[in-house]
Amino acid sequence: MKQSLLNDLNSEQKNAVITDSQYSLVLAGAGSGKTRVLVHRIAWLSLEKRYPANSIFAVTFTNKAAAEMQERIEVLVGEGHFNGMWVGTFHGLTHRLLRIFAKQAGLPSNFQLIDTDDQNRLVKRIFKELKIDEKQWSAKECAGFISAQKENGLRAHQIVINDPKSAMWQKVYLDYQAICDRLGYVDFSELILRTYELLKKDADVLAYCQHRFTNILVDEFQDTNLIQYQLVKILAGHTANVMIVGDDDQSIYSWRGANADNLQLFINDYPDTEIIRLEQNYRSTGNILAVANHLIANNRNRLGKNLWTESDNGERIAVYIGFNDIDEARFVIGQIKKFNEEGAKFKDCAILYRNNSQSRLIEDTLLQSAIPYQIYGSIRFYERQEVKLALAYLRLLHDRKNDNAFELVINTPTRGLGDITLNKIRNLAKQRQQSLWQSTIELLGLNVLAARQRSGLARFIELIESIYIQVEKLPFYQQLEQIIKSSGINEMYEQEAGIKGQSRLENLDELVNAAEQFYQQYTKSNQLNEFVDLHDGRTLNVLEAFLAYTSLEGKEKGKNLDSVQLMTLHSAKGLEFDYVFIVGLEEGIFPAQRSITDNQRMEEERRLAYVGITRARKQLTLTMCELRRLYGKEERNLPSRFLTELPEDFLHDLSYRGGINLSAPSANNQHYDNISNKEQNNQFFEQRRSAFLKSQTENEGYTLGRKVIHKRFGEGTIINLDGEGEHKRVQIAFVNEGIKWLVIKLANLTLA
Ligand code: ATP
Ligand code: MG
Repeated sequence: MKQSLLNDLNSEQKNAVITDSQYSLVLAGAGSGKTRVLVHRIAWLSLEKRYPANSIFAVTFTNKAAAEMQERIEVLVGEGHFNGMWVGTFHGLTHRLLRIFAKQAGLPSNFQLIDTDDQNRLVKRIFKELKIDEKQWSAKECAGFISAQKENGLRAHQIVINDPKSAMWQKVYLDYQAICDRLGYVDFSELILRTYELLKKDADVLAYCQHRFTNILVDEFQDTNLIQYQLVKILAGHTANVMIVGDDDQSIYSWRGANADNLQLFINDYPDTEIIRLEQNYRSTGNILAVANHLIANNRNRLGKNLWTESDNGERIAVYIGFNDIDEARFVIGQIKKFNEEGAKFKDCAILYRNNSQSRLIEDTLLQSAIPYQIYGSIRFYERQEVKLALAYLRLLHDRKNDNAFELVINTPTRGLGDITLNKIRNLAKQRQQSLWQSTIELLGLNVLAARQRSGLARFIELIESIYIQVEKLPFYQQLEQIIKSSGINEMYEQEAGIKGQSRLENLDELVNAAEQFYQQYTKSNQLNEFVDLHDGRTLNVLEAFLAYTSLEGKEKGKNLDSVQLMTLHSAKGLEFDYVFIVGLEEGIFPAQRSITDNQRMEEERRLAYVGITRARKQLTLTMCELRRLYGKEERNLPSRFLTELPEDFLHDLSYRGGINLSAPSANNQHYDNISNKEQNNQFFEQRRSAFLKSQTENEGYTLGRKVIHKRFGEGTIINLDGEGEHKRVQIAFVNEGIKWLVIKLANLTLA
């Protein structure tokens, strides 16, 4: 057993696994086997050092990483030795501790976890009680403030008051905590703070924990925040063995209070820490590693380390500059299809993006190609709360009998309608066997409602009717746009400050884009403004078709299938895939706009790019596009500096006109501020665009939008192209026969 445990480790890894040092830090770059060392060390402690399973306390960052770690440990040590080990995330493990010591922590035994939404609602309630104007102050921002304080280990009375706002929020924090304590609510940051405080004040519990958890191991240590660090320290006491593992170049959560300086802090707090460096990368090809090293060397603020590999150079890094975002998505999916035909599994392919809102177009393209996919760390586009809400308004607008839609929108944004009022509507609907809408109108006539509820309901009915009058004649994507503006959805999310509110607004813009694309595609290809529902063959108008499409999308879950992996760069941390695609490499997207004028943020973006690149094992593909629909407008972004920072010798341009000119900008990035350069870039894009169009017309006449005639199916329009040579296929929207994929060589088409 001992031998096989250490067999597949290099000598530095072996040293780390078997070290007798009480404190050790494995500091090493991506793919060097840090997580592998951690897993093997746990097995070593268990099998060789004979520590009982319940002495192990191992922490990592995401649920997915924790699940993988548990699995790997169990494989090494077997179930018998594994049972009793504590392996999980900070939140998961502290939750478990608080369940055991609820009483000592001053919590009811059945305390309830509350999520961010609950937290926000609670803060809103307190705003009302304290008469804080919700229009002027954001409840969401205040809730975020409270969490941030907790992450820094601060209770309400400890926070620094430096302006009227923080004084006000201190009051809210006080009331918030009082309510939580009274009702037994625990939010995410509270889990960790409460555990820390428990260990600090209760000597018995501390003694128990320190006696039990004599082996503490933490992965991804560069992303711990202050309170997590303090928790590790107090738990460790003076006797536990502590191994921490991290890479300062992969610190990507400083916006959430994480601090890579905690690595340094650990060394200061435990001066006899053994530092182990791993330098061999086992994950990626030579080329991938070379560009990763090159890129991160542009950061000033780093500890610095070497990383080399014995692997072959492998393929060059593929670069693709799409003509527009649709073309970019098609290219990526096309490559995945190709890799798949050559034997790769879909689940070995990952598409990484900077923002969740970028997934929509990719999801659509995958869907059209019938390729299964799975999204991590976020909800599928058409299932997102804000998207569902806007679509529900659209549904109700066109079908007042749609009770599901009615339920979703009746009190969002809030109209002061409680369950009592809504139950009256529901009961009447049941009695009369009619829609909720109809019942609402009837109730308004019956004079059985209190004035406030009455006016809330009346305003709602008026709102829907007036939007309908305004938009009736517009194409449905413009209707959506109008709905988002006039229903109050927009303002509601505008008030939801911070990243979440912003991303909801972006998703709503993205929804309008999606609707417009759908509309254009199908109306262009079908003058009758109709297309055939793929499922029951009924003829639908374009709006019905769109709505059917969005709900279909929601149902097709990719779970457990061999499916393409979609996630943000942040949630890819610690994971690896054979084929990695990073999309949207454009200034303003990645790096994000906010970071462009802020050097520290820029370095964090670059670390994020480094994390993304180093996820790839066999092949890395980087893409961008010239013309992007963004927030309802067409935009031309410059190529990301992360593209231009890569040495050209390692790249392979797969765009239509080969030989990209991403000539490196000067060190201070003047390139990006310089207008004439920008113009040059635009010229360059113009050339590329005409090359694209030319390549399209050269495609034997089968081009997007081209009308064709099929002997049996009749007339139709080409809406998609795929494949090469004799495998080349076209997707055609037939006037009478629905949408079909046909291989050109076999289909016997004629151009109309
Ligand atoms: P990251 O910084 O991205 O979290 P890491 O340092 O944790 O990376 P691991 O995920 O542990 O790296 O290892 C990267 C890959 O290299 C894994 O597939 C792992 O199995 C493999 N690997 C690590 N060490 C060895 C080794 N000595 N021999 C063979 N394969 C190895
Ligand atoms: Mg790792």
